[in-house]
This record gives sequence, structure tokens and C-alpha cells, in this order.
Amino acid sequence: MPVDESFIIRGFQFKTPDNRQVTKRALRELQQKRFMNHSIVKNKKKTCKFGDVYKCPHCNSYCARLTAAHIGVNAAKYIDYIIAQHIDTSIHHMNSLICDEDCKTSIAICCDTCNKKFEAYENLKYILPPKKRFKYSFYIEHQSDM
Ligand SMILES: [Zn+2]
Repeated sequence: MPVDESFIIRGFQFKTPDNRQVTKRALRELQQKRFMNHSIVKNKKKTCKFGDVYKCPHCNSYCARLTAAHIGVNAAKYIDYIIAQHIDTSIHHMNSLICDEDCKTSIAICCDTCNKKFEAYENLKYILPPKKRFKYSFYIEHQSDM
């Protein structure tokens, strides 16, 4: 077999990330998989697929991928909050708390550009029923800074 030596990478010198970073990354990955593997999300995405590309249902632009945007909330921030409050518990426990929060959010299937807009979307009352408002006051304080 012909081998191009310039594409062989021998060994890595990764810096060891701190435990909090690893926990956050793992929880974020689990959350993204949870949304992207959900049958409703998958089916909605399918309806936007045209050949090898997707058409964003909001801005109508063509893109390589569609995302699941949290509407009016920054999911990374509520993961941060839950880690800060429950760092001494198991990752399973933290994941279940994040699941609980995920169940209160609404997501939009959209392109990367629209994703940022949906996350910052302030007029939640036009999209979300009142019971779906975020419960952590820490998060809401920070949300108003953005
Ligand atoms: Zn879009």
C-alpha cells in the first residue's frame, strides 16, 4: 500500500484539560446528541434536505448542516451553572439535571447564522408558553447582559 508520510501523525502531546472542562465538554456532547438524535429533529431536518445540502427554513439559505438552536437561552450557560452547583455529584446526576432543563426549552432547526439569532432572541413570549421560562435566576441575570 502506498503511504504518504506527510499524512502519518506519530503521537500527540495533548495538554491535559482540567476536570471541569472535561465534565462540561462531555455534558455538552451528550446534550447535542440528545437533540440531534431525537426523531422529531431528524424528521424536520430531512424535510429541509436538498441533495447534499440543507435549506434553512428560516432564512432560506443553503448550508452544509442544520443545527438545533435553543431559543432565547444559552445552553452552555445553564450547563455551567449546573456544573458549578453540582460539581461533587456524578456526571449522570448532572446530565439528568441538564435533561430536565432541556425539556423546558424550545429549539429551532436552523442554519449556523440563524442559530446565533435564535439564542439571543428576546421576545420569548411570542414563541414560548410561560411555563417554559428558564428557572435559574443566575442565568437570567447573565442573559440580560447580552
Ligand atoms: Zn438560517
